[in-house]
Amino acid sequence: MTDPERHDRPRHFIQEVIDKDIAAGLNEGRVHTRFPPEPNGHLHIGHAKSICLNFGIAEEFGGLCNLRFDDTNPEKENIDYETSIIEDVRWLGFDWGKRLFHASDYFPRLYEIARQLIASGHAYVDSQSAEAIRAQRGTLTEPGADSPYRNRPAEESLALFQRMRDGEFPDGSHVLRARIDMGSPNINMRDPVLYRIRRHHHHRTGDVWPIYPMYDFTHALSDALEGITHSICTLEFEDHRPLYDWCVTHCDVPSRPHQYEFARLELTYTLTSKRKLLALVESGRVSGWDDPRMPTLKGMRRRGYPPEALRLFAERIGVTKKNAVIDFELLENSVREVLDNETPRRMAVMTPLKLIIDNYPEHTEEWLPAANHPKRPELGERMVPFSRELYIERDDFMQDPPKKFHRLGPGRMVRLRYGYIVTCTGFDTDSDGQVIAVHCTYDASTQGGEAPEGVKVKGTIHWVSAHHAHKAEARLYERLFVVAAPGSVENPADAINPDSLATSTILVEPALLEAEPESVFQFERTGYFCADRNDHTGTALVFNRTATLRDSWAKLNTEAK
Ligand code: ATP
Ligand code: MG
Repeated sequence: MTDPERHDRPRHFIQEVIDKDIAAGLNEGRVHTRFPPEPNGHLHIGHAKSICLNFGIAEEFGGLCNLRFDDTNPEKENIDYETSIIEDVRWLGFDWGKRLFHASDYFPRLYEIARQLIASGHAYVDSQSAEAIRAQRGTLTEPGADSPYRNRPAEESLALFQRMRDGEFPDGSHVLRARIDMGSPNINMRDPVLYRIRRHHHHRTGDVWPIYPMYDFTHALSDALEGITHSICTLEFEDHRPLYDWCVTHCDVPSRPHQYEFARLELTYTLTSKRKLLALVESGRVSGWDDPRMPTLKGMRRRGYPPEALRLFAERIGVTKKNAVIDFELLENSVREVLDNETPRRMAVMTPLKLIIDNYPEHTEEWLPAANHPKRPELGERMVPFSRELYIERDDFMQDPPKKFHRLGPGRMVRLRYGYIVTCTGFDTDSDGQVIAVHCTYDASTQGGEAPEGVKVKGTIHWVSAHHAHKAEARLYERLFVVAAPGSVENPADAINPDSLATSTILVEPALLEAEPESVFQFERTGYFCADRNDHTGTALVFNRTATLRDSWAKLNTEAK
């Protein structure tokens, strides 16, 4: 679904940069972006913004977008994360063709480039300890101090670098550093480390490399090797841009990409830090990365958020250079908007109360046509069974309703959706006075809900036939956190909403027996529900509440009826 407001929205600064670059004939008019995750966690809604931006730019300008794993840190990375990321980007609706790359594929090339840097005097092997190097780094206000190895002859550095690569030295005994400027006001430019000795099994290169290139160096060169034109990243990399530029200028690479930074996505009531999300998973506070309350793409998928809604949301929030926190409602509203248009309607009763139609023949059933979508006849209809005993929502009946209550109460009329108009004649209570059944009569001439001449029936309620209904488990999700900024709480687990998940047994119409896992429906008057990806089977019906029909957080529950 493309955003209908798209063309009214001002172009964002990255689009403007590219417009200018194309007009100036830069890169022969080519536009090539990439999405570069580290395979050290699962993707979340923040990543979705970056994915939509990078792939969206490529699409818009007739360019290309690569998917590249920046896998330079073997301690935290693994193949399962990679597989999951690939699945998630595809689910979000993007395609990288044959351009799935890994920074680790460039390790041999990067090693050669590093040797050239040494040979040309732009890098040296430093044999100090990490602590000593840190101590010389200086501060924001004081310059750093030169390493005693800074002027080591290139031949000596080359020989040492070779021996580092050959595995002759213990971890941490030497590093390769760029020779830039220890007096630079930008700490990233104070002879940053380019390579470290680290014996750790890498999920793709195995134990071939006892040395690994550092992220900044690898990232910039990978972009350059892939012919990326616009390297888009988040604002925290702004201070790294001079190093990025230094790398693509001083190294022997086929192209010179430019880096542009945009504000990362932050959402109220949501964590967008892989580390903090991992802590939630590890502490068991959520059922896993795909817990439907998690802001991960896996979680949102399982919750029933359609990928179109995430793309619509990404377009709506736009791209800026100023950090801002976006209201969670904006995401939920994008979800509702897409679901309202796309999802078939079904009837399900959350808190059942029996309704007996006393003048309806016993042992009889009728199958009545019910439209799958009120505004989209092309989505067809299904048949719903009607019989003498139905279930309605408990709160659609009141013993002594106020005037404005347009549902059932003694003497009141209501339309049963797709069924008949009924009039309440009485109710039964148990010994505690609790209503256990409501009685009514129906008017056989009102099939389909048409009121007789001169009669106004304001309310319409949903129902299921008692004999035909199936039990299902409903998982009612609310926001995971009770505070708007869980990222700023010391231990986010303390701010978890204790009511973020409630389960209940509901009754659903028979058509829902055919619901495929992951399919989403609007349960009329109740909310959007998605058949659980893992637990919904032919025999156990499990529906996750994707979203309420309106913002229930604002306690609009009663108005929604
Ligand atoms: P890490 O701290 O592990 O680097 P990360 O969230 O930056 O975490 P990456 O795998 O490096 O994870 O992210 C891939 C891309 O997604 C990067 O280009 C990063 O800038 C972008 N990204 C990450 N978080 C957000 C966010 N909240 N909003 C927008 N883009 C994001
Ligand atoms: Mg990162």
